[in-house]
Amino acid sequence: MSETCPHLEYREEGDGRSFEVARAFCTATGSFVQPMRADVCNARHGLDPTTDCEFYVEPDGETGDGSDGNADEGEGGNR
Ligand code: SF4
Repeated sequence: MSETCPHLEYREEGDGRSFEVARAFCTATGSFVQPMRADVCNARHGLDPTTDCEFYVEPDGETGDGSDGNADEGEGGNR
């Protein structure tokens, strides 16, 4: 299911200017979003930021190097 992109913010100022209405800002590119792309950012019309935006990157954390060797075997003794 599509959700609004986690990199999307609304800012009333940027690039040394301020705006009367907050504009869509992408923290992944560090720039304001073009109106057409805002549909992707907001996951409108069945669009999905994770697959339809070439700027999308996974949110912070989890670099996925597979070093988490957690072999916990709890939950025993149910006879
Ligand atoms: S969909 Fe793309 S352009 Fe829009 S906020 Fe996310 S990464 Fe940025």
